[in-house]
Amino acid sequence: MEVTEKQTLNFWKKVLKIDDGCWEWQGSLSSSGYGKIHLRGCGENENHGTHRLSWFLHFGEIPISMSILHKCDNPKCCNPEHLFIGTQMDNVQDRIKKEGRITLYQIRVNRLKYH
Ligand SMILES: [Zn+2]
Repeated sequence: MEVTEKQTLNFWKKVLKIDDGCWEWQGSLSSSGYGKIHLRGCGENENHGTHRLSWFLHFGEIPISMSILHKCDNPKCCNPEHLFIGTQMDNVQDRIKKEGRITLYQIRVNRLKYH
């Protein structure tokens, strides 16, 4: 993944630090409530989760099979301190723990969108 300095600046311009410590994305959202950003020239899939972009900018490339998860449960949040890296299975288990249930459809959708 390659991001230009301009894209990085435009990204941070739309991130608002709110009182509870979350850095909320103010731009467009995916259907499941995650921030999304269009990065032209960034390969075949040009739409990226903003939490994944934030992780990338702070910690570097995300292994292809890994997901970026939220400790704070705020899908718009881009604060690297609120993010952790895990597998898709961690993601599903984390959600089951938090929501009590998850549909197979959601798992499939998440897999398509966030990998
Ligand atoms: Zn947060």
